[in-house]
Amino acid sequence: MQEVRLKVNSKFANKYRSGLPLILTEAIMNQKDLIEEGTIVNLVDEKNKFIAKGYYGRQNKGYGWVLSKNEHEKFDKNFFKNKIVAAFNRRENFFTDEHTNTFRVLNGEGDGVGGITIDYFDGYYLINWYSKGIYHYRKAILAALQESVEFKGIYQKKRFDTKGQYLEDDDFVAGERGDFPLIVKENGVQFAVYLNEGAMVGVFLDQREVRKIIRDKYANGTNMLNTFSYTGAFSVFAALGGATKTTSVDLANRSKSKTIEQFSLNGIDFEAQDIIVEDVFQYFKYAGRKNLKFDLVVLDPPSFARSKKVVFSAEKDYTKLLKETIAITEDNGVIVASTNSSAFGMSKFKGFIKKAFEETGHKYQILEQFTLPNDFRTIKEYPDGNYLKVVFIKKVV
Ligand code: SAH
Repeated sequence: MQEVRLKVNSKFANKYRSGLPLILTEAIMNQKDLIEEGTIVNLVDEKNKFIAKGYYGRQNKGYGWVLSKNEHEKFDKNFFKNKIVAAFNRRENFFTDEHTNTFRVLNGEGDGVGGITIDYFDGYYLINWYSKGIYHYRKAILAALQESVEFKGIYQKKRFDTKGQYLEDDDFVAGERGDFPLIVKENGVQFAVYLNEGAMVGVFLDQREVRKIIRDKYANGTNMLNTFSYTGAFSVFAALGGATKTTSVDLANRSKSKTIEQFSLNGIDFEAQDIIVEDVFQYFKYAGRKNLKFDLVVLDPPSFARSKKVVFSAEKDYTKLLKETIAITEDNGVIVASTNSSAFGMSKFKGFIKKAFEETGHKYQILEQFTLPNDFRTIKEYPDGNYLKVVFIKKVV
């Protein structure tokens, strides 16, 4: 692969010297030299002195990632093998946990390889490629993975624009094909996972700790509402934790059968639960008219969503979403407010919470909060990588 020098403007040189991994567009003075994704880039300061080495790959954020501080580094199989082995060693306690056999084994820049993630599903590995640039290194990365671990099968998702060239069958990479759904477990609870059906495989692994605490500490005896419920993972944990009833609301048709599947897998009578295919914002109106109230409400919207009637952006609309939620939450009830938006941090998120309660004239108490779990490793040099924010809020009277 050809190499290019990228001149970093003086404002950013020290940031890269102290370990910033993301190659920011605004830091680069000669962007025009970036032509082919996958190109190896050497960041240099204004005096042409070497700072760090990485690759060019376009994601929604940035122009690629720094992978090394060594000017002579080769991004070959051995390089990636070292990263993968180190990442696996950091997660030894996950591999030996008898109650959980699904987790993240390599989290992008948090494990030194910005642009990919690798998740583990009971012997199967799923690689997410976030740019054409990192996909350029797929042979070396796949060989490194295959040499580092025993596996049943390896699957992949291309999360970059493939211009229609993406065949579903590309998902399967090596080993034996899975018999889907795979049944995996998390803290003793089963999930049906499909590695062959598009980017969303059935469960979001980053909410593991939140699901557990809902089951163990918050669910018992509650009438629980799960909004943007997808496959109903939060509802399953709430039901297992003793919720008297759960209501799951999601706009997508597929969510109903998938939620029934998850309940059934865990021995819960799905007919005793409500599973509703509807726009959450419409459901709030309905709940308001019927004077429905809930003791425990989970709010986990996507960062952006477009439905027929509404465009939702977490950054712009979270306060409004909370206000509508507060209106249907019982006194002393708990709202679990979650967002995976990287457009704002925890303090701004708490600002939305404060504003929503002030504007509805209610008091509140923050009970606890979560960010990414340890398997979603992040580094202090790039705190923005920790996108998850979950706050447990009590509506106080
Ligand atoms: N909370 C889920 C993950 C949510 S993913 C979990 O923990 O598993 C986001 C979900 O929001 C998707 O399933 C999508 O169909 C749904 N969604 C997006 N906009 C919506 C809307 N306006 N009303 C209801 N659901 C919506």
